[in-house]
Amino acid sequence: MEEKVKLTIDGKEVEVPAGLTIMEAADSIGIYIPHLCYNPTYKKFLLPSSSCRICVVEVEGMKNLIASCSYPVSSGMVVRTNSERVQKARRVTLELLLSSHPMDCMTCEISGRCELEKVAYELGVPSSSFQGERVNYPIDTSNPFIIRDYNKCILCGRCVAACAEIQYNNAIDFSNRGFRTKIATAYDRPLQESTCEFCGRCVSVCPVGALTEKMRRGRGREWELKKFTTICPYCGCGCTIELNVKDNKIVKITADPFVGINEGSLCVKGKFGYDFISHPDRLKMPLIKKDGKFVECRWEEALKYTADKLKELKERYGPDAIAGLSSAKCTNEENYLFQKFMRAVTGTNNVDHCARLCHASTVAGLAKAFGSGAMTNSIAELEDAKCILVTGSNTSEAHPIIALRIKAAVKRNGAKLIVADPRKIDMVRFACIHLQHRPGTDVALFNGMMNVILKEGLQDKEFIKNRTEGFDEFKKVVEKYDPQIVERITGVPEEKIIEAARVYATSKPAAIVYSMGITQHTTGTDNVLTLANLAMLTGNIGKESSGVNPLRGQNNVQGACDMGALPNLLPGYLSIIDENARKKFADAWGRDIPAKPGLTVVEMMHAARKGILKGMYIMGENPFLSDPNANEVRKALEKLEFLVVQDIFLSETAEYANVVFPAVSFAEKDGTFTNTERRVQRIRKIIEPPWEAKPDWQIICLLSEKMGYEMKYENPSEIMAEIGILVPSYGGITYDRIERKGLQWPCPDKNHPGTPVLHREKFTRGKGLFSPVEYIAPVENPDAEYPFVLTTGRVLYHYHTGTMTRHSQGLNEIYPQGVVEINPEDAVKLHINTGDMVEVSSRRGSVKVKAEISERPLPGVVFMTFHFKEAAANLLTIDALDPVAKIPEFKVCAVRINGVRS
Ligand code: SF4
Repeated sequence: MEEKVKLTIDGKEVEVPAGLTIMEAADSIGIYIPHLCYNPTYKKFLLPSSSCRICVVEVEGMKNLIASCSYPVSSGMVVRTNSERVQKARRVTLELLLSSHPMDCMTCEISGRCELEKVAYELGVPSSSFQGERVNYPIDTSNPFIIRDYNKCILCGRCVAACAEIQYNNAIDFSNRGFRTKIATAYDRPLQESTCEFCGRCVSVCPVGALTEKMRRGRGREWELKKFTTICPYCGCGCTIELNVKDNKIVKITADPFVGINEGSLCVKGKFGYDFISHPDRLKMPLIKKDGKFVECRWEEALKYTADKLKELKERYGPDAIAGLSSAKCTNEENYLFQKFMRAVTGTNNVDHCARLCHASTVAGLAKAFGSGAMTNSIAELEDAKCILVTGSNTSEAHPIIALRIKAAVKRNGAKLIVADPRKIDMVRFACIHLQHRPGTDVALFNGMMNVILKEGLQDKEFIKNRTEGFDEFKKVVEKYDPQIVERITGVPEEKIIEAARVYATSKPAAIVYSMGITQHTTGTDNVLTLANLAMLTGNIGKESSGVNPLRGQNNVQGACDMGALPNLLPGYLSIIDENARKKFADAWGRDIPAKPGLTVVEMMHAARKGILKGMYIMGENPFLSDPNANEVRKALEKLEFLVVQDIFLSETAEYANVVFPAVSFAEKDGTFTNTERRVQRIRKIIEPPWEAKPDWQIICLLSEKMGYEMKYENPSEIMAEIGILVPSYGGITYDRIERKGLQWPCPDKNHPGTPVLHREKFTRGKGLFSPVEYIAPVENPDAEYPFVLTTGRVLYHYHTGTMTRHSQGLNEIYPQGVVEINPEDAVKLHINTGDMVEVSSRRGSVKVKAEISERPLPGVVFMTFHFKEAAANLLTIDALDPVAKIPEFKVCAVRINGVRS
């Protein structure tokens, strides 16, 4: 039973749980104690520092006043929160603070939310009677995101604590002593030259105007801003954000610590990368290309022209001469309608989207092993894992908020982190073991770990016996992967493989977290199967804080897959070759569904190049930059007879279009996104779109009508209702139920609470299937002509092909161009320094890019991102495909590097 304590506060007897502070006890009976440095909102993360002394109270029998924010209650305690002595002390403290605080409240951005202003008002202290010396620091406006005015700082230390204890970044700290004490980065450098990642958490905890968002300057007073809750449009974390809006303009973005998977944290993109919405280059009217030039036109003309062209192609060449790319950036409802349009209206299964380029191998691999191709567990559970194996995921840059959970597991709960990655990524700072294997050797590495687990008898025999099948075949293969042999393949020392195996197998529950470093290989499906084997071997599946957890890249890539924007699967992952499944949808849609599986993303480009594919409808995708072997993609797009692109900007792909439909952003429409942990969450129309841009779902409906098939929905909630009928795992999801908090599928009926952990009692397919997986080398390996391995990925400040982030001024300013990372050993041999221009060439193309000499890649390996059209890594990558999932091998190809004379 909970221990209770009786005490008296301001003459009232009160009984509260032991362990509460005096401030919490007073709060429980409605007595407010003013405070500044302590913020109860952040109780979970930050201990009270008791530095401001505003919250002092008198306790009978104690000589000095004590800080109520940190002092625990005890039995028989008699507390006075508002005695004359207390009031006097608070006023003196406050006057001392005000004596050096600029009194520019009338123009201060945070007036109305300022906690110093609030306390001064409550205590009736308009100004200070002390005439002290004042600091006079220059106001730092040198970075694009945060204004630092330390003349206003009250040295409460909240920002320092938030940076260290919530973000695990330690970019700032107290520096100097006495009157000169100040919050600063190491060596007092500007933030942009420190380890600061511009998550903005320091801004959100600052009680005064010392730290403010630069982009909101002069655009609205606090009390003029209206807050609307929605979901971040960038990565698959699916963070909940609040748009602070005035006059149809987003003034700033905040996050509520009590709502969403992010608990108030955001990364730089979620916090500051929103100005693309109001960028002047947004598409405002439909465009038709006439005589090689785009001209604006009315919707009626653009829709009719497009419908006529698609009908003509269908009649002349058959429906399979047309293909569509749906979009992981669009809502579930839009993806559902898009694939319905392609199947029921156009009459083809040629529909795919960028999941093909990131997690097609996850869908294939996990479906084979477990029966369901999605993250098995939930994001929050990671914090309670005893061991986390992160592989092929640069988590802190690609999924920063999930990275925070992993860091919290290590820092707060003592979890052991194993990082298996060819690059020395930031997560390695938190790891006890880094397995830095050669790109493309994942199967060998994990088979090696499993070899050790079996040899040492660390497997979960009960789990294997009761819950799995295929063990004996699997074992025969794994027994061949002695760590000595694996060392030769992977380059990872034998002892490290053994140590990692022991740590993973003996620290339960253990979770596996992976991303595109695993999936984007010609052996992507094999890699996923190997991780599934590892989890089953140790019984780390079907339990909290364990599992196999693919981190999906884009905000709604999970949802786009769930909705059947795939050439071989109908909504809800029903196979297109299953006659009953086709009949179910044919009955619902009133049109026959073709039985032949369609083309995948890369196959579409191959078919277009060969002249087999004649027309394409591309919604919110940019294959010109996102697909491998971009020179060939360019030829494919040029060869199409008709291309219609639907987007918010004139993307590189849209430049090739015959017709462009202007779509709206996430902030201008209603719908749902499904994040990487299968959580279906609401987005809302918060501001009006520019001119005549329309939501993607409306555009699809209008085009469909012109093609002779009526799609009538008043609102996306009606589309969700149709999805709920046809997709059992979404059966219980309605807009009402997810108004405030999303639900995780499977959620089969209206009373179901959602499913945080999959495969608890049994796997979706019945028993978990072990697969014997042999190591196969990547398709293209380095040789004398192309001696380096190129691997690709993301950086924190940009996203996908940059359609949104490159239209964000701050993100561009802080990270303006792509680089190629080269190991110092290689740089010496090549006579290259950081900042030099180099030419990186593969058998498919070459790009000129700046070099960055870095310890992150292994010698012999170079790294580039694919965000920048000026240095498009996908001009170099190979379009060789995984035979099962048809995902290209983005992560390994051979290149050479030459210096470029300036
Ligand atoms: Fe948005 Fe992802 Fe950053 Fe969260 S972690 S704020 S979802 S980009």
